[in-house]
Amino acid sequence: MTPQQRREKAAEWAKRGLTNGAIAARLGVSTTTVRRWLNPAYAAYCRRVTAAHRRANPEKRKLWDTVPCPSCKKQRVEPGVEACRACQREAREMRWAEIEKLWNDENLTARAIAQLTGRTLSAVEGDTARMRKAGWKLRPRTWSETAKLNAALVHEGNL
Ligand SMILES: [Zn+2]
Repeated sequence: MTPQQRREKAAEWAKRGLTNGAIAARLGVSTTTVRRWLNPAYAAYCRRVTAAHRRANPEKRKLWDTVPCPSCKKQRVEPGVEACRACQREAREMRWAEIEKLWNDENLTARAIAQLTGRTLSAVEGDTARMRKAGWKLRPRTWSETAKLNAALVHEGNL
């Protein structure tokens, strides 16, 4: 989704009665961002506060200087940041698509996915929780199904 499409989605969902928090979770942005999109007066207020803060703290100017995103070279990011929001979102969508495929098509557990993709179990579980919150469909599994799948993988020497 382009930024413009995300804003349009936010407006559409807001009309349908979704809360800013629910919209933010679906779009993978912060609640504050959603509020800024939907409320021009609040957006203007945020810009005024930021501008005033910068004027009042000129000695911190260097901290606000930005560099090109190391990944796309298009967006500007703060020094030391690995990727801009757009690149982070793109990377996350690719990661989530991979998890969805492994989970639903290959019937792998979070533990097996962590093992296969070289990530920690809690990182994968964090992703699956966020995916579900954002409306991705991961086949539900009972605790005992998960345990059985993991046991089978251990038995095959894959875990
Ligand atoms: Zn980037």
